[in-house]
Amino acid sequence: MELFLKGKTVLVTAASMGIGRATAELFIKEGCKVAICSRNKDNLLKTVSEIRNIFNVEPMWVVCDINKSEDIETTVKKVKEELGDIDILVNNCGGPTPGFFETIDDKNWEDAFQQVLMSAVRFTRLVLPGMKAKNWGRIINITSLSVKQPVNNLVLSNSFRSAVTAFAKTLSNQVGKFNITVNNVAPGYTLTSRLYELAVVRAKESGVSHEEILSSMANDVPMKRLGRPDEVASLIVYLASEQAGYITGSTIAVDGGVIKSTY
Ligand code: NAD
Repeated sequence: MELFLKGKTVLVTAASMGIGRATAELFIKEGCKVAICSRNKDNLLKTVSEIRNIFNVEPMWVVCDINKSEDIETTVKKVKEELGDIDILVNNCGGPTPGFFETIDDKNWEDAFQQVLMSAVRFTRLVLPGMKAKNWGRIINITSLSVKQPVNNLVLSNSFRSAVTAFAKTLSNQVGKFNITVNNVAPGYTLTSRLYELAVVRAKESGVSHEEILSSMANDVPMKRLGRPDEVASLIVYLASEQAGYITGSTIAVDGGVIKSTY
């Protein structure tokens, strides 16, 4: 299917690996001008070189700690200077510290607020004027199954991703008239280093191996397997397309059916 994305400028945040990277790769395949950012320069350079080897195209890259507003400002400025106004923003972030309510202190809450909610707010604020001027834009936040079905030992993720969901819905009401859509994609158990780390944490808590934790996660999923990053990325790219122009304010899960509710 032709998605009419060729030549669009895309910024995918926190994209040196996992779902963010898979998303950047799919946008490159669609012929977009793609920028990625992440905190660690070495990881970023490794990713850029691997992507160049696969696609013969290099994404623009910027070192950015998305917890810092000044890094976000510099990143958006550099992308605009090199690639032009951003048409498609994918707000991704690292997962916040895992833990049950009683193990999480004020610093953890503050960090997660910056990392999950404020990063999305700040990037969005900086790209909106360009989108309004073009009368076209797509903002897609990567959230989590936890917004529909909270995960017991992920109190920070549950709380702040719900805040992102409410922020996105509110914004979608205001920017629809500019042909800008705002949506959330909620991954289920997707095999990346984040999931691996969570399995290691759970293994320590429960005294079984992380392999057993991963296998039991897969067993809980109606599809009987973990998801792949490209499966989440495919929905994100679709939501950015012309065809998805009437989908806004939505949260769509890519979870193999693991969320038990009907909506
Ligand atoms: P990942 O850990 O594989 O990748 C996270 C990326 O974020 C990396 O590129 C890392 O460098 C970057 N990053 C982390 N902190 C950063 C910072 N302060 N500044 C800039 N970049 C930073 O994660 P993933 O599995 O691809 O998940 C992506 C998002 O989806 C995360 O927020 C995660 O919590 C969420 N999620 C993942 C799953 C899953 O099963 N993998 C499920 C639900 C939700």
